[in-house]
Amino acid sequence: MDNVISHIEANFNNYVEELKDYIRIPSISTLESHKPEMQRCAEFVQKKLFDAGMTKAEIFQTAGHPIVYGERIESTDLPTVLIYGHYDVQPVDPLDLWNNPPFEPIISDGKIWARGANDDKGQAYTHFKAVEAFYQVNGKLPVNVKFLIEGEEEIGSSNLSKFLKEQSELLKCDAILISDTSMYDVGVPTITYGLRGLLYMEVEVTGPNRDLHSGSFGGSVANPINELAKIISKLQDKNGKATIPNFYKDVQKLTKTERENFKKLKHSDKEFAKEVDVKLLQGEAGFSTLERLWVRPTLDCNGIVGGFTEKGAKTVLPSKALAKISMRLVPDQDPKKIAKDFEKHIKSLAPKSVKVDVRMIHYGYPVVAPVNNDAIKAAAEACSKAFGRKTVFTREGGSIPIVVDLMKSLKAPAILMGLGIDSDNIHSPNEHFRLENFQKGILSSAYFLNEFSKRK
Ligand SMILES: [Zn+2]
Repeated sequence: MDNVISHIEANFNNYVEELKDYIRIPSISTLESHKPEMQRCAEFVQKKLFDAGMTKAEIFQTAGHPIVYGERIESTDLPTVLIYGHYDVQPVDPLDLWNNPPFEPIISDGKIWARGANDDKGQAYTHFKAVEAFYQVNGKLPVNVKFLIEGEEEIGSSNLSKFLKEQSELLKCDAILISDTSMYDVGVPTITYGLRGLLYMEVEVTGPNRDLHSGSFGGSVANPINELAKIISKLQDKNGKATIPNFYKDVQKLTKTERENFKKLKHSDKEFAKEVDVKLLQGEAGFSTLERLWVRPTLDCNGIVGGFTEKGAKTVLPSKALAKISMRLVPDQDPKKIAKDFEKHIKSLAPKSVKVDVRMIHYGYPVVAPVNNDAIKAAAEACSKAFGRKTVFTREGGSIPIVVDLMKSLKAPAILMGLGIDSDNIHSPNEHFRLENFQKGILSSAYFLNEFSKRK
């Protein structure tokens, strides 16, 4: 293992040069005109997979951009790690806000600046180099490795979802390793192991068949906006809990370990409130802010329209009112079941004087990998070694649909070994990646592969 680590340290400058070559390919997936660049980038990835010792590295064409798959199976007795990443990047406009041309990477201030430097070329490339180091030093890998590098993450991964279904045998693995998220703080190694799901609904309340004069009709006919507002106000109780029947029935209980882990994280409610300019935070009673964000479900009205909203006054009793209401879900809530309960509940809250339509817009499942899982433990230990600091475990309040898809299709835990920092400007001008995180990311990956081989 020591040889592998010193090999990585000795070759780090070459890795940076290679990453620059990777970045120079302007693989913007959303631009039709960049289609040839996408193919060129897929070929670059394929070549680097062969360099890393993969015995097979194939470019799969799809209805959109190619998927690159590589593998090296050392032995069926060893565990298999699937490394996921994406070679496509976001568009670069507005160009005038960049300090350097976005596809001409520069190094300054200990960072590499360019589109894709971080998301996800830089982050994913750490694993290429860790695997390669084992191959070059030992002629073999400590575990079986599969790479799945797609070109459509920034545009919804729709062809990858299909690929996952068709190739589940090929992609079979014991753990999914992904570096495409952020660290909790600079210098704090972070493993994210859970993501919330989402259920997005629309509620439309209809009263009279047309907008009415509020003088001639007001007081005798139900006002859809008034009624919708009453319905929304009843969706949460005074403790900040959703009132939908069975809503909490399948919610996994917060474990003692999780609660303790979250408590150890540096977090200030005061600063958090200051950042969004509110006097006080508010949420479900009995839970801390991080718990409310990561392990508890929520319900929010995202928008509401109806009636007269222009300047001035118009005395109207509107015919319709509409609200968009979403819920962030946590394991094991089932969005489809909740959608049904939500509809029933809304209808039960509405008076007979109005008609209510409830529609589902979209949904996504929540996921969580058990923290005491071998792969997660190995990853945490690996990152601690590389960064010289104890790894923290976080969950994410948002949803990353492709991660959920990977976990569900491959039935393996995903380890989000994020190496970005929230201020790294991914998707914005002047995207960058800390060279320190690039190097420690490679080391983390190497330690992980070694550690995981001992755990099965
Ligand atoms: Zn990404």
